Amino acid sequence: MKRIILPVACAVLAAACGGSPEKAGRFNVLLVTLDTTRADHLGCYGYPLPTSPNLDRLASDGIRFDMAISTSGITPISHASIFTGMNPDRHGLRVFYGRTGHYLEPEHPTLASILRDRSWRTAAFVSSYPASEKFGLDHGFDTFSSGVSEEVMAGDPRLRPPKDGYWQDRPTASAQRRADVTTDEALAWLDEPYVGENPFFLWVHYFDPHDPSLVPPQEVTARFGVDGSEPDALLKVYDPEIFFMDGQFGRLIRHLRETGRYDNTIIVVVGDHGQGLGDHNWFPHRLLYQEQIRVPLIIRIPGGTRRATVGAVTRTIDIMPTVLQALGIDPPETVQGSDMTAILSGPAEKGRIAVAEALNTLDDHAPPQLPPHQKDLLFMVMDREWKLIHHAGEPGNNELYHLLEDPEESNNRVAAEPEEVKRLMTALEGSGIMQIELVDPDEPMDEEALEKLRSLGYVGGGN
Ligand SMILES: [Zn+2]
Repeated sequence: MKRIILPVACAVLAAACGGSPEKAGRFNVLLVTLDTTRADHLGCYGYPLPTSPNLDRLASDGIRFDMAISTSGITPISHASIFTGMNPDRHGLRVFYGRTGHYLEPEHPTLASILRDRSWRTAAFVSSYPASEKFGLDHGFDTFSSGVSEEVMAGDPRLRPPKDGYWQDRPTASAQRRADVTTDEALAWLDEPYVGENPFFLWVHYFDPHDPSLVPPQEVTARFGVDGSEPDALLKVYDPEIFFMDGQFGRLIRHLRETGRYDNTIIVVVGDHGQGLGDHNWFPHRLLYQEQIRVPLIIRIPGGTRRATVGAVTRTIDIMPTVLQALGIDPPETVQGSDMTAILSGPAEKGRIAVAEALNTLDDHAPPQLPPHQKDLLFMVMDREWKLIHHAGEPGNNELYHLLEDPEESNNRVAAEPEEVKRLMTALEGSGIMQIELVDPDEPMDEEALEKLRSLGYVGGGN
């Protein structure tokens, strides 16, 4: 898909930025990715529990995108799309590990590499192995810290799981760290004198809701009535983890305010994917139902629109071009996303589609417990009304849902709506996402990678 820059986008942009592209070009950029965070578990998306006061505050000071769709339910793949503005077939990172690409090749320009080339200070502080340099996600960052080594863990009690309740038998989380540790590092970097000499691009990645190997401090879990003794503690710790992560995000925002940088910083917060939590009989992620690919997305542009909600379909591939446009920089020709602020003018929302994929038969880390009909090459296409999940190996398992009438995706209407299936299949084929180029079919498994994935539960029984 060739990217088209509409004149209206430029008009909205100029209004949003309150000045010329030259002036806009001096903004800092803070990107926060919330791993495994379902949109519907945040207050600003209607969740009844107070999980997200800081994110709610940002939503009321910026634009909240109500139907933002990720390209994948798998961490590195989703992040590669956020950074490149491209769907997986184009950026090439398509499985966690397996018989097609699992590394973002440096030939692809990313938000980080583009800004670094224009003298932004670039730094990333990530919280887990799946978001690390092992997948090429460090491309474009001067400073990149995943800090998940055994040595770091040994010196910091916050990196070890508690030894009581449900968590006593959990493996030590050697491949992840808690949001407070990551935030400490990010704040220290922001205080470095050289950071203030140029605009910065800071990526902070939080992993807490992914699993309960590391849990928040006891006062946080107790606040939600969870002490680890519950038989369903795995489910119940999800909200406290989001709350804890939200508090750490709040520290970032406070720091920007206290150092006078909040009003000169573009802030983007996005989930990389959601979590099943038992919906569609699946607890983790990797599938293509809404609870797994509809993500929270909030953007605040200095001088831009406030307290707005966008109901149109948006995609995580739109983030990179939206930020670049707000900085007065034209995105690369290869980008498939488009500037989301154009939607605010109205007409651009019509006909928007999102696509996603789960190449479960090509991914060596697809868990063996996957339901048989999900062990397939899965492709998703949706607009605001309809959604098709195409099972490429067994099209007889295809699923069609009317998202407006059936947001829980419980009533498969494939048989009743052949015209809709045909229309969406045409859109899916036109997107290019079903093209697969197999690479390295005989590549041996990396033992270090295998061990880290095992510690996160990815191999032989996790997600
Ligand atoms: Zn993830």
